[in-house]
Amino acid sequence: MKTSEIMATLQAKYPGENEYLQAVQEVLESVEEVYNQHPEFEQAKIVERMVEPDRIFTFRVTWIDDEGQVQTNTGYRVQFNSAIGPYKGGLRFHKAVTPSMLKFLGFEQTFKNALTTLPMGGAKGGSDFNPRGRSDAEIMRFCQAFMTELWQCIGPDQDIPAGDVGVGGREIGYLYGMYKKLAREYNTGVLTGKGSTWGGSVLRPEATGYGALYFTQHLLEKAGKDLKGKKIALSGFGNVAWGAAKKAVELGAKVVTISGPDGCCEISKGITPEMIDYMLVMRASNHDRAQDMVDRFPDQAVFHPGKKAWSVPCDIALPCAFQNELSEDDARELVENGCWCCCEVSNMGCQPGAIHYFQHNGVLFAPGKAVNAGGVATSGLEMTQNAEHISWSGKEVDEKLHWIMHSIHEQCVKYGTQPDGSVDYVKGANIAGFMKVATAMLEQGII
Ligand code: GLU
Repeated sequence: MKTSEIMATLQAKYPGENEYLQAVQEVLESVEEVYNQHPEFEQAKIVERMVEPDRIFTFRVTWIDDEGQVQTNTGYRVQFNSAIGPYKGGLRFHKAVTPSMLKFLGFEQTFKNALTTLPMGGAKGGSDFNPRGRSDAEIMRFCQAFMTELWQCIGPDQDIPAGDVGVGGREIGYLYGMYKKLAREYNTGVLTGKGSTWGGSVLRPEATGYGALYFTQHLLEKAGKDLKGKKIALSGFGNVAWGAAKKAVELGAKVVTISGPDGCCEISKGITPEMIDYMLVMRASNHDRAQDMVDRFPDQAVFHPGKKAWSVPCDIALPCAFQNELSEDDARELVENGCWCCCEVSNMGCQPGAIHYFQHNGVLFAPGKAVNAGGVATSGLEMTQNAEHISWSGKEVDEKLHWIMHSIHEQCVKYGTQPDGSVDYVKGANIAGFMKVATAMLEQGII
């Protein structure tokens, strides 16, 4: 396999699908050497098959807004790969959603899910619906309209969606309610991220952020460092940033920023528990404004309009918002201001130039598919509880999440350790995920 040849074919076939092409390029570059040591992979054309989604469903979603106006959006479900289990991955509601974005997310999800140790294939879905400024009733009507099409594509043993950007517990509730009505089937295992009284797993809302901090702890420990007293610059203020902030503070670090599309809040004394709780209010308001935090806590935070979290001096950067949110220039600014570690919590949060800059300037760096896998892993734990009709305690779920994050770190070390003893976490995560999916595909024949 030659990465450049496969990329040239994909570029010609899918011009302009930049996020998808970027995600594929990153994985292929990492695995090329190992792949070429396995002629059986080449013979079965594993890579050529793996970069194409199994199927993509596209549908019209029509709903009525609070003014009585008819609105139309596009909905998608990309079922990417089912080699190691049923399709699994979140739904994203965001104005910038395109097939390219969902293909990149579904491709990443395939390897991330493989790293979790649980039997889950990869998928992603969503819509170009923009939740900003929408009322609760509008969100409900949109979710119901979206499900009138999606329900035929999913099922508890077939494809299990969950949340992602713009889709949290509230949206999963509305989606599940409509699914139940349409499918006349009462299996809660069809969606994860549910409410705790009707099949949701305790700790699922926190799991992506908690898992990211557990991974960061392992990475720091391996490098002979720890989290205590370290300054963390964190971007976003949604569910993932919330969980990360909570656990970071609990582990003794100091979170000095949150951010949004409007700018960055600098919290020089460190985020407080009240501020962390307020992040939930900000997310539920659909204002999509980080400035709301400064309006609510004017003595404790300063707002920098139009700035990113990366302009504030820190030890550790945790991108928790959106793909490509950290550029090479941002990486340079971070390093100049003393940052020495970046754990990507958002999916593909760092641009390729930023990763390159970090890796060439001695910054400890780990990619999203390893760092943020605790979210989908806890979704997997939710599915197990649903299938057994039981619920585990917070302690049980947390122990399992800890074990999974430890195991992901071990897999990265196994496949990413370099001759000088350092760990290339990008390579480690990509090769570990790839080997598992490729081997399963090979064993299941040419399909
Ligand atoms: N959207 C999350 C992710 O990127 C969670 C997916 C899930 O729980 O299925 O991994």
